[in-house]
Amino acid sequence: MAKPKPLWSALDEIAERVEGAERLYVAADFDGTLAPIVSHPDRAVIPPRTRRALVALGGLTRVRIAVLSGRSLADLARRARLPGVFLSGVSGLETLSASGALRIHLPRGRGLPASLRPQVIAWCRAFRGAWVEDKRYAVALHYRAVAARRQPAFEAGVRLLVRRHPGVQLEHGKRVFDLRPAITWSKADALGVWLHGARAWFSPRVSRLPGRRASRKARALLVYVGDDTNDEPAYVWVRRRLGVSIAVGRRATRAEYGVASPRHVVWFLEWLAREWRAHHRS
Ligand SMILES: [Mg+2]
Repeated sequence: MAKPKPLWSALDEIAERVEGAERLYVAADFDGTLAPIVSHPDRAVIPPRTRRALVALGGLTRVRIAVLSGRSLADLARRARLPGVFLSGVSGLETLSASGALRIHLPRGRGLPASLRPQVIAWCRAFRGAWVEDKRYAVALHYRAVAARRQPAFEAGVRLLVRRHPGVQLEHGKRVFDLRPAITWSKADALGVWLHGARAWFSPRVSRLPGRRASRKARALLVYVGDDTNDEPAYVWVRRRLGVSIAVGRRATRAEYGVASPRHVVWFLEWLAREWRAHHRS
């Protein structure tokens, strides 16, 4: 983990990569990236300007969009309302292709143990403000509304509880614990599903321009924007494919670039659309 470079001081370099790319793939997380964090996840929405920017970008020639969330796919689809966009729910476990093909990436018999749900529900009942979001393949324990002085006790209890279930893995997000089956499958794998048919576009080529150092780049440019723990594997995956990885509001991350808030994300999407249009007419 390292401090990301400020995105806005790297635009020249990114613009060059946009210009040189033949295709553009833009993936973003939902909460805290496209939709600002709100007191209750039920109130989270994509602001109108962000929606316009996404739709405009996705409508450009040779541009594809994806939204990958920790929410369940059904919840994400209802909130995103972006037809023709690749969606992924439960941090990669569910994927829905742009043409509507749904896949669950969970091996048989690897679901959450049946005894886990009643235990976490009972634990959350003991803390005013805590609640369980059932995402079918995972559960999220939200505790943003728990009194600050009680949060350490809540966290410690959840960690203890999960330790009793070896098949369960704990991911700590922003005032939320995600309890998922202990399998190695993340948003990075969902990106792999999304771009499966486009793999050749991401094999690095070495280019040597006269008077310049040799540089490695792919024919397609992949951009990923996220804000939380479950986005970290995606940043690594994107960097390996010479893409642009951006973290919102994080001091330490594996993303290359950082911005302060979702407001910056919409500015960046608008900038990206302008750059792409300027260089890729028809
Ligand atoms: Mg997020």
